Amino acid sequence: MPLLYFEVYCANCGEGLCKLTTVDERNGIIIEIKPCPKCLKNAESDGFNKGILKGCEVTREQSEE
Ligand SMILES: [Zn+2]
Repeated sequence: MPLLYFEVYCANCGEGLCKLTTVDERNGIIIEIKPCPKCLKNAESDGFNKGILKGCEVTREQSEE
């Protein structure tokens, strides 16, 4: 197995993801990269904010009836 050096960075925020990368060489090469925790957190709060906005819209529509 030739030695392969590579680095993994998040395309979104540029965070180094080497510590979140697992290489499994038992059957060929399987590379597993965990989602960037920074962006995952951002995405979660994004979804949360969108949920709040949606909730507000529903409430507004109901009160206008
Ligand atoms: Zn990221």
